[in-house]
Amino acid sequence: MIISKHIADITSIIENQRNSGRKIGFVPTMGALHEGHISLISKSVQETDFTVSSIFVNPAQFNNKADLDKYPVTTGKDIEMLEAAGCDLLFLPSADEIYPADFQKKQYDVGYLETILEGKYRTGHFQGVCQVVDRLLSIIHCDVLFLGQKDYQQCMVIARMIELTGYPLKLNIVPTVRENSGLAMSSRNMRLSATEKETAAEIYQTLEILKKNLKKGALNELKQKGFDYLTNKGFEVDYVELTDDRLRELNDWDGELNVVALIAASLNNIRLIDNMTIH
Ligand code: AMP
Repeated sequence: MIISKHIADITSIIENQRNSGRKIGFVPTMGALHEGHISLISKSVQETDFTVSSIFVNPAQFNNKADLDKYPVTTGKDIEMLEAAGCDLLFLPSADEIYPADFQKKQYDVGYLETILEGKYRTGHFQGVCQVVDRLLSIIHCDVLFLGQKDYQQCMVIARMIELTGYPLKLNIVPTVRENSGLAMSSRNMRLSATEKETAAEIYQTLEILKKNLKKGALNELKQKGFDYLTNKGFEVDYVELTDDRLRELNDWDGELNVVALIAASLNNIRLIDNMTIH
């Protein structure tokens, strides 16, 4: 695996690969890698000819400075995992490389996605996500961008940003990788104690409860049941929501539409999110 911190190296390596007719796959990450990230790398290795990954903890998408300061950094281990998974090129930029002094911030019109769920609880978060992914895609000319379904709303926001900017690439959304307990793998799980990790698996249990109890008609009672279940387990719950597959809130279900259940809840100030398509 080639590793570089510099845009000039990265673009020249990728242009060489493109000129040789190779299909480029790209997996952006914030590091502290786990098997969830690696499943995206493996998918890219399977489906493209040259896999590029990046590790950059993007300050622009953290609305909470303490969360940014506590974000785990495990670069040495990340490099080993990427290498073992068959990643070809790793971009490890500094903040100055991504946001030079003359960097022009854009505003992305992602519509209702910005004011619901994660958008509502993390003001400015998705503008920061669009900004960094746009910047990375302007450097890494890929054919396929791999994203995790774990961040359902983020996938939709990035799809919208790509539509707005016109990058000629395909999005490949990879299913969520879970621990045996059902807990969705996340870099934030590293901050949980062993007991908290056990409790955190209740988020998955709640998704299962929502799935099992989904019935045609009014949904408010079911959402409240999920909310109360997690609160009783010691979570500070931001939302337990049921939506259609475009993330439009569902209060009444016709028994036909696809239904996505989404949860955001904190345990000891560590904020976790998860989702599941339940119909
Ligand atoms: P992050 O490092 O958290 O920015 O995540 C980088 C990419 O990995 C994003 O596309 C995430 O959605 C994806 N990802 C994170 N956790 C998982 C998981 N448990 N399963 C699948 N993909 C994941």
